[in-house]
Amino acid sequence: MDFESTAAGPTPEPSPAFLALKRFQPAGRGPWPGVPDADWNDWRWQLKHRVSTVEHLEKHLPTLTPEERAGAILAGQSKLAVGITPHFFSLIDPADEYCPIRWQVIPRLEETVRAPWEMNDPCGEDSHSPVPGLVHRYPDRVLFLVTDRCASYCRYCTRSRLVSNASGYDFHPEFDLQIGYIAAHPEIRDVLLSGGDPLLFNDEKLEYLLSRLRAIPHLEFIRIGTRIPIFLPQRITPELCSMLRQFHPLFISIHSNHPRELTTEVRDALGRLADAGIPLGNQSVLLRHVNDDPEVMKAHVHKLLMCRVRPYYLYQCDLIAGSAHLRASVREGLQVMEALRGHTTGYAVPQYVIDAPGGGGKVPINPEYILANEPGRIVIRNFEGRVFEYPDEGVPVEHPAGALQP
Ligand SMILES: *Cc1c(COP(=O)(O)O)cnc(C)c1O
Repeated sequence: MDFESTAAGPTPEPSPAFLALKRFQPAGRGPWPGVPDADWNDWRWQLKHRVSTVEHLEKHLPTLTPEERAGAILAGQSKLAVGITPHFFSLIDPADEYCPIRWQVIPRLEETVRAPWEMNDPCGEDSHSPVPGLVHRYPDRVLFLVTDRCASYCRYCTRSRLVSNASGYDFHPEFDLQIGYIAAHPEIRDVLLSGGDPLLFNDEKLEYLLSRLRAIPHLEFIRIGTRIPIFLPQRITPELCSMLRQFHPLFISIHSNHPRELTTEVRDALGRLADAGIPLGNQSVLLRHVNDDPEVMKAHVHKLLMCRVRPYYLYQCDLIAGSAHLRASVREGLQVMEALRGHTTGYAVPQYVIDAPGGGGKVPINPEYILANEPGRIVIRNFEGRVFEYPDEGVPVEHPAGALQP
């Protein structure tokens, strides 16, 4: 079996570039040098000053390319809006057209290119939606899309059909329909709040929603999926954290893709969430020019652990229309995974998944570690490519009658 082609071999020595990627730095002020701290650190100021038009982009990014300018003009007319918080914008390196921050949030002309296999709803969410705003794909848990707004818009968004008011999608601010469905389905033990970004709600609205959910006796577990700690760390106030901690067990999944996103402000915001007892996971999307490189990904997952965040999923980029220029191949994703497993802390290794096109859910994708699987034995190889045999006789164990009764 051909496994040598993907095996990463010995763990490389950390290079100076790798160590630089892991360094924590403050965001700086980018093109807003004179803004007083009180404004910059205020999440409402950040939202109000988002970069959202071609004129803003031209003003704040003198190196805007023709592809980006054309992309911004078209984004203004079509589905997914442009929106970039000053905090996140200030991380852009204006000298680098392929800056990993720039690549994620500044539209490009290539967004209008649509491959035949690309879709508007790549994960088939709309067809698994029993009531508007709920996706019930897995038996015991639901995805609850609570808003169509985000602090900034990722160009590869899998829900670009819904977010930024793209389609006049009917969001229900009272949530009665969705909460009624969850309350009427006792098999639902886990609700994942997403959108859009739930942490864009003010504290009162979020508290109302979480208390309505907590009043449902069969709900065991609540999660929030959010990119706010990355786009808008100022939103993670002590007041928000003390409100959230009333609703345990509550987990948060953040979305970070590149080590440069993990600034000192972001690290501190994540620390406040962790101090509120909220277990933190990260979901990354494998992206061309951003994190399709084993060294970048390894620095990123190390930095996430330093921020008390456990890498959870690495997503193969969904087949969203107009995303081909951002998509790395599955082969490259497997090489990234190969370079992590065994070569670094197990807690730092996310599960690589493909969200099955059309709506099959997340499917784990792993490098091949099983070289032969035969009756009585299994042949495996380790992270260095060394081969081992495990005798797998499978002798059935008989439990005495009643041994497994509670
Ligand atoms: C990702 C997802 C979930 C949560 O899946 P986990 O593997 O439990 O994190 C639930 N519902 C939908 C529709 C999803 O896409």
